[in-house]
Amino acid sequence: MDSCIFCSIINKKIETIIVAENEQAIAINDIFPKAPTHILIIPKKHIINMTDISAKNSDVIAQMALMVKELSQQHPQFNLVCNNGPEVGQTVMHLHWHFLAGTDIFKKLF
Ligand code: 5GP
Ligand code: ZN
Repeated sequence: MDSCIFCSIINKKIETIIVAENEQAIAINDIFPKAPTHILIIPKKHIINMTDISAKNSDVIAQMALMVKELSQQHPQFNLVCNNGPEVGQTVMHLHWHFLAGTDIFKKLF
């Protein structure tokens, strides 16, 4: 999708260092990190968020999960966050999981 920042990164219209890649997903460092390690796991297909997942495209979730596993080899302790919808903080309307390591981001919450 033309107006989507993550599609532009995936289509290499915007130059970004890709920290991991598989058939259906990429991982990039967040531009405004909220933890010492803050990586975004993004499907290559333009899927809006988890509400946009169906039996037809759910294979992408397995690929994203495999990427979590790959990143966990370097960062075995981490938080995985998905803001699903603008009212709970989703600002980029292309599905992504935040992989956060190196601090307890939920210290005050849980
Ligand atoms: P959300 O708020 O939608 O859950 O997360 C969007 C994330 O994307 C934010 O943490 C924001 O810092 C990050 N982000 C927005 N634009 C860019 C960009 O152009 N490059 C990178 N690497 N991250 C971005
Ligand atoms: Zn997109």
